[in-house]
Amino acid sequence: MVRQHREDGYLMISELMRGRGLDRSPEAVKVHARKHMGLKLPKYPTGGLKPCIQCGRFAARPSTQAGRAGFCPSCWDKRKTEAYAEGTEELRAKRAYDNERKLRKTIKRKLR
Ligand SMILES: [Zn+2]
Repeated sequence: MVRQHREDGYLMISELMRGRGLDRSPEAVKVHARKHMGLKLPKYPTGGLKPCIQCGRFAARPSTQAGRAGFCPSCWDKRKTEAYAEGTEELRAKRAYDNERKLRKTIKRKLR
């Protein structure tokens, strides 16, 4: 999460973590990133953050896959959820179709 939000700077990452129920001071975020992730976080948000193309509310971060697609992390996860659900639905429909065809063949065979 720190990596994903690195352009936000450690002040904002600290707030974000509080929002997720993890109380971390800005200093703790900065030290942790440097020691354990080898990241030198800026204090303030850097440039290059654009509004999310989906919600317009949160930022799209160019260092992330979500950001390169133009999405904020939340909208990207929602989009992935939709894609996953669509895949599941397509599989369900395909199986139903295959079963129906199989059934038809079985009926034809029995009628002969
Ligand atoms: Zn968004």
